[in-house]
Amino acid sequence: MNTRPLQFVPASEFKQRAAMAVANQHLRRGFRGAMDFLIGKRAAQFPDAALFERQRALAEHIRKYSLARLPDLLEQLERKLTENGVQVHWAENAEQANGIIIDIARRHSTKLMVKGKSMVSEEIELNHAMADAGMEALESDMGEYIVQLDGEKPSHIIMPAIHKTKEEIARLFAAKVPGATYTDSVDELIGIGRAVLREKFMTAEIGLSGVNFAVAETGTLCLVENEGNGRMCTTVPDVHIAITGIEKVVEKLEHVPPLFGLLTRSATGQAITTYFNLISGPRKPAEKDGPREMHLVLVDNGRTQAYSDEQLRSTLQCIRCGACMNHCPVYTRIGGHAYGTTYPGPIGEIISPHLLGLAATHVLPTASSLCGACGEVCPVKIPIPDLLIRLRGEAQHDAHPGHTPMLGQGAAKSGLADAVWSGWAALYTRPALYRAFGWLATRFRALTPPLQSGWTVSRTPLKPAKRTLHEQMAVRERR
Ligand code: SF4
Repeated sequence: MNTRPLQFVPASEFKQRAAMAVANQHLRRGFRGAMDFLIGKRAAQFPDAALFERQRALAEHIRKYSLARLPDLLEQLERKLTENGVQVHWAENAEQANGIIIDIARRHSTKLMVKGKSMVSEEIELNHAMADAGMEALESDMGEYIVQLDGEKPSHIIMPAIHKTKEEIARLFAAKVPGATYTDSVDELIGIGRAVLREKFMTAEIGLSGVNFAVAETGTLCLVENEGNGRMCTTVPDVHIAITGIEKVVEKLEHVPPLFGLLTRSATGQAITTYFNLISGPRKPAEKDGPREMHLVLVDNGRTQAYSDEQLRSTLQCIRCGACMNHCPVYTRIGGHAYGTTYPGPIGEIISPHLLGLAATHVLPTASSLCGACGEVCPVKIPIPDLLIRLRGEAQHDAHPGHTPMLGQGAAKSGLADAVWSGWAALYTRPALYRAFGWLATRFRALTPPLQSGWTVSRTPLKPAKRTLHEQMAVRERR
C-alpha cells in the first residue's frame, strides 16, 4: 500500500494536467461544492472584519518575529527538547531526513510505522523510503488513509481526500479492505477505517507525527487534529518521531493561541479542534502511557534559501491552513493533483520553487489569476500575489550581480522573448521609429495573423486599431 512517488507527476506537466482537470466535469463539480461549503464555514467564523484584521496583524507579527529570531529560537528549542529527553536531529534535505528516520526504525527492528498527518513527511516521500527499506508506513488520518489505500497523493493540505465522493470511497473500501462490504453510509465507512487502524496502532513499533507549532522556551511540540489518530500515534507506540520544517518554531507558549485560533477557523471553519496536543517529552518514570523514546527531525529542504531573501522569507510565515487554496479560482477548478507537488494551490506555487527549484516548477507561479483572494484570506498576511510576481521574474532572469541565484533561476528564460522585448524597447525609445511602426501597423492591420501562439487558445486575436491614439486625438483637436 504505497502511493506513487512525485516523479510520476512532474510540475513541468502542469499545463497538460490542468487542462485535463478542467475537462473533468465531475471533479470540478465536486471541488466547487466542497470549496463553497468551506468558504461559507470560514466566513461565518470571522463576522467582524475589523477584528479579523487585528487578529491577522497579531498573527503576522508573531510569525515575522519568530522568523527574525529563527536561528536563536531553533538552538533554544534544541536545548529545551534535549533537557526534556527528546533527541533532536537536523536534516538538510529529504534524503538526510529519510535516512535519520530509517536509522531509528532499524534500531527498533520496525516492521510498521503508523503516521499522523504530516505534510513534511509527504514532502520528503517518507513512505517510499520506508518501503524501499523494507518497512511499512501506514497513514492513520482518515483522509490520508483513503488516498494511500488508492495509491494517490493528498489533493489538499488539510483535507487530503476532498476530491473523492463517498461512493468512490465505498467502492475503494469494498475492493481493498479485507472483509469490508459495500456501504455508502459515512458513519459505517469511518467505522471500517477505524477498525483497521486501531489494530495497527497496537502493533506499530513507531508512531510518527507532524508539528503545527514548536515552542522554543518550553521545548513543546503542538499538534492540532480532529480525529485522535495523532494522539494515538504519539502515545501508543514505544517510539515517537515528530518531523517538521525548521520554520514552525515560535518563542513562547503565549504565541500559540493567536495562531491556533486563526489556523482552525481559516482551515475548516472550526473555532477549535477536537484535539490540541502539547508534547514536551517522552514518558516519565511514574507515567502510565506515552512513548519511551522520542525524536524530533528538523527539516530544511530549501527553507534556508527562502529565508536568505527578505521578501521571499514571508513564504515561511505559513501555518498550513489551506485557506488560500479554498479561495483560489485556479485551485478550485483543477484540484490539487494537477500541480504535481506536495503543496498545491497558492502556497504551493510559492513554496515549491524553494523545495524543488525553479527549473522544475517555474510554470506554477503562472497558475494564478492574481485576483488577490489568496492574500486576502491568508491569516498570517503572506503577500502571495507579490511573491508570485517575484518568482515569475526570477524564472525569466539571470541573478543580479552579487545576489545569490535561486535554485533554477532563469529556467524559463527564452532567447526569442528576450529578442522581442529588446526590439520593442528599441522601437519604443525612438519616437520617429515608433511613429512609423504605428502608421504601418494600423494601415496594414488586415495582415494581423489570426492565430497568435498561446494567446488565441482562449482569447480573440490582438489587432491594431484603425488609427493610432495620437492620430485620433489630433483629429479630435482639429474639430
Ligand atoms: S499561505 Fe496563508 S492561507 Fe495559504 S496555507 Fe499558508 S497560512 Fe494558510
